[in-house]
Amino acid sequence: MPANVDMEKIVSLCKRRGFVFPSSEIYGGLGSCWDYGPMGVELKRNVKDAWWKAIVQERDDVVGLDSSIMMHPQVWKASGHVDSFADPLVECKSCHLRWRASEINNEKCPQCGGKLTEPRMFNLMFKTFMGPVEEEASTVYLRPETAQGMFVNFENAVTTSRKRLPLGIAQIGKSFRNEITPGNFIFRTREFEHMELEYFVKPGTDEAWFDYWVKERFEWYIRLGMRKENLRLRQHGKEELAHYAKDCYDVEYLFPMGWSELEGIANRGDYDLTQHTKHSGKDLSYYDGESGTRYVPYVIEPSAGVDRSVLAFLIDAYSEEEVEGEKRVVLHLQPSLAPMKVAVLPLSRNEKLTPLAREVYKQLCPSFMTCYDDSQSIGRRYRRQDEIGTPFCVTIDFQSLEDNQVTIRERDSLAQIRVPIEKLEKTLRAKLSDEPFEKTPLWATRQK
Ligand code: ATP
Repeated sequence: MPANVDMEKIVSLCKRRGFVFPSSEIYGGLGSCWDYGPMGVELKRNVKDAWWKAIVQERDDVVGLDSSIMMHPQVWKASGHVDSFADPLVECKSCHLRWRASEINNEKCPQCGGKLTEPRMFNLMFKTFMGPVEEEASTVYLRPETAQGMFVNFENAVTTSRKRLPLGIAQIGKSFRNEITPGNFIFRTREFEHMELEYFVKPGTDEAWFDYWVKERFEWYIRLGMRKENLRLRQHGKEELAHYAKDCYDVEYLFPMGWSELEGIANRGDYDLTQHTKHSGKDLSYYDGESGTRYVPYVIEPSAGVDRSVLAFLIDAYSEEEVEGEKRVVLHLQPSLAPMKVAVLPLSRNEKLTPLAREVYKQLCPSFMTCYDDSQSIGRRYRRQDEIGTPFCVTIDFQSLEDNQVTIRERDSLAQIRVPIEKLEKTLRAKLSDEPFEKTPLWATRQK
């Protein structure tokens, strides 16, 4: 088990502190659907921003895309999803629960021990109808991945970006899969977000680029503070590989239920562009000016789940510690991921303190996600901020009224320093750039 946390504790913290709520809770919830609350939405956005920064912003060989969720139905025919995006499903003849055949190990229903049907293939794509007539001809699918948006826009992206290969197209967006057995909180849901890169390369250079992306993607999680010992790479065996894939690695994380996939990186060869060329009649080969040759590019695909990453970051950051005889729960999130960067806390609700505390808050919030809290004791408020992973609390006390100084309290070291208000923003900015945190090994070497 990673660290000392089980899934119940994470689910409970998420509910208590506004990270994740069951969807439509007042109606009893909707199976496997979750809503991200005020803290969750920030954390999720920070994960997506970190991915976008590493994949698009900091590179000149990747461009972004935001394609539509509903696409021409032929797209899914060409991609193979209509015919084979399916899991073998078995049904219990007694209680009628349905299971993925791969989850069954003794031919009996895990719920009631009843007999199971023979496996049949169950397509995981959600179907709906476009327009006012519900007929076969107007069937469209909710995309089960964002990748097809990149393939069908390959030429648009190459032409308009005026870039040469190798060139990547990146997208973050919702995907839908009618999973037979969703579960483990936000690990497997029917609606989730993908962060996908399709990196197009010249055939022959694909293996080197594949190795590069496997390494790069693995290190991304570590750069964002995830503990290396909770991450591993697993190469797919021959029997596991999709028929078109040349190679595939999963980045796995040690979740409370065991090692499970966080991200897949596949060498998809020229399968996708070839398929779309065949089905659309549009030639998607690429003219390589440098070598004077034309070819169908190979594609390397790192495909990660936003929600699974959020879950892994939460689990990895979670820690229960004892401070002066009291238990505290802390999320040692890297500052760039923390939902709130700063909390402004007047020592009490005393009316003399409020104006200055409000002024400090107003000064900071254009620069950082900042919250203001003046309810309950200062100790309790520190605990609350620890639980949502706020790296810095700024406390305003009566002394502040005299000397215009405030106290910064650090989440990890619990160190407190006093700084003049006019230097507060600059000091916090310096502390919040991830570098000093990386140099301060406190969160990295914390109790395991
Ligand atoms: P799994 O084997 O867990 O079903 P997969 O191999 O089908 O996943 P991919 O199609 O490779 O998944 O998608 C890439 C990533 O998208 C996964 O590594 C995961 O992080 C995320 N993902 C896939 N399906 C789901 C889901 N139902 N809920 C949440 N995240 C998902």
